[in-house]
Amino acid sequence: MRFEPTPEQAALRDDARTFAREVVDPVARDLDRDGSYPGEILAELGDRRLTGLTTPEAYGGRGEGMVELALVVEELPASLMAVASALGLHLGVAEAIERFGTDDQRESLLPEMAAYDTVGALGLSEENAGSDKSRLETTARREGGSDDDGDEWILDGHKRWVTNFADADLVLTYARTGSDANGRQRVTAFLVPTEAFEVDTVWDTLGARSVKSPKVTLDGVRVGDDRRVGEVGRAMAERGRLDTGINVPARGVGIARAALEDTVAYTSQREQYDRHIGDFQGVRWRVAEMAERVDAARLLTLRAADLADRGVDTTRAFSMAKVNATQAAVDNANEAMQLHGGIGYTTERDVERYLRDARLLTVAGGPNEGHRDTVAEAVYERHGGEN
Ligand SMILES: Cc1cc2nc3c(=O)[nH]c(=O)nc-3n(C[C@H](O)[C@H](O)[C@H](O)COP(=O)(O)OP(=O)(O)OC[C@H]3O[C@@H](n4cnc5c(N)ncnc54)[C@H](O)[C@@H]3O)c2cc1C
Repeated sequence: MRFEPTPEQAALRDDARTFAREVVDPVARDLDRDGSYPGEILAELGDRRLTGLTTPEAYGGRGEGMVELALVVEELPASLMAVASALGLHLGVAEAIERFGTDDQRESLLPEMAAYDTVGALGLSEENAGSDKSRLETTARREGGSDDDGDEWILDGHKRWVTNFADADLVLTYARTGSDANGRQRVTAFLVPTEAFEVDTVWDTLGARSVKSPKVTLDGVRVGDDRRVGEVGRAMAERGRLDTGINVPARGVGIARAALEDTVAYTSQREQYDRHIGDFQGVRWRVAEMAERVDAARLLTLRAADLADRGVDTTRAFSMAKVNATQAAVDNANEAMQLHGGIGYTTERDVERYLRDARLLTVAGGPNEGHRDTVAEAVYERHGGEN
């Protein structure tokens, strides 16, 4: 068992780190303050095929695994989390097409997506289907009336929180296509062009400000059956098998680490009472705890990524990583703000942005409460509990 990246993985991570420091850092504060879209940064990620990081080489991507994804994504949120959000969701759409799409979809879309010439966004959540995705209200019906009748589907409803909608070309849209014998909804996924939606609401958010996540509506939108991704009625089960969600805990690791690094730098030079504040034991122990959180979050995230790469079930490991790493981001950002004193509360420093960005992560990708339920279920099962 080795706990360090291979030389190739380390080189990839170092490239991403250099990119974040040289290209993203200098503009991050302005983009966040103005809520401006990081288009040039994402285009450059496209030129480097990082927007096809986990897409097979046969389709123009880099063919890397989830460990590599976690290592790359960790580097971005320290500079600007919204970039990592857009990248993570885009790679998730590409993964769904690669794993469950048709040959035609793979051949026509994945090379363009790898280059970021075609951009994917996720349309899963709705107003009444947040953490409980069994309550989707968006419907898709075959034009002929039954499941296997007609070449077109007609979609009605809305999607809430479609991150990166403004720059996207396609929204992977989940819609009800009937119920099974037990009355449970059957859900099917479609690639719907963004121009088929109406924008309803664009929120101003606490963090992740430079990539917006609007509510959008669909009114009698027709899409061909060739835009369906995966089997009719099986989209939620298929979604559960996607691995690129590892980008969420990886974003948490990145913020937790950035908060630690900034705190070490600040407390090493700031003097009060004739000494560096980093010399107070009360500060040092808190910094030590911040470092523990980063390591624990990274190890859990990389373990889940490694299991995914080896084709092992990641349900428990992923949820553990998600809860731990996103909470580590919140806790470390909060500590960083305290240990920076008053200046940490201003936009002169990045720690206030880390805290605003981190707060999203315990909710997005499913609230941590739900992931704790998943871990608890696995724990009771493993240890033979009755309930
Ligand atoms: C900025 C942003 C970007 C997003 N991007 C996307 C995107 O691109 N695509 C997409 O499809 N979705 C996206 N989402 C949606 C996100 O995944 C949902 O917000 C999330 O699943 C929670 O749904 P909800 O907001 O409706 O909260 P609710 O489901 O209403 O939950 C509210 C709160 O109730 C508590 N809670 C919920 N369930 C449980 C439980 N089982 N046990 C105990 N407590 C519980 C939690 O504290 C939770 O935060 C985004 C959200 C935000 C805010």
